[in-house]
Amino acid sequence: MKCGCGGKFEEKTQEIQGIKCSVMACGSCQEIIFTLEQSKAYHKLRQIQDELSKETKKISKIGNSMGITLPTKLKELGFDIGKSLDMRILDSRHIIIELFT
Ligand SMILES: [Zn+2]
Repeated sequence: MKCGCGGKFEEKTQEIQGIKCSVMACGSCQEIIFTLEQSKAYHKLRQIQDELSKETKKISKIGNSMGITLPTKLKELGFDIGKSLDMRILDSRHIIIELFT
């Protein structure tokens, strides 16, 4: 696929409004376009993100541990009861929760 500048579009991962997604980026002018599939995937994540950011979560006490609940909307991404997760510290205020596939 060719760009208007004459450059070639190649698939790449890019962060758009805080969401990492697959896009087609021109190697010459950095113009970005979505294929239909990439657009659908981005909008699905965007919709879930918008729903997640509607309410502020609180950390609750579960036994001697701390717990948070995950919205059922995350089932659309494969998160579910009994699934294994990996947690990593990003910095003093951010953690990453990754679903094992
Ligand atoms: Zn271009």
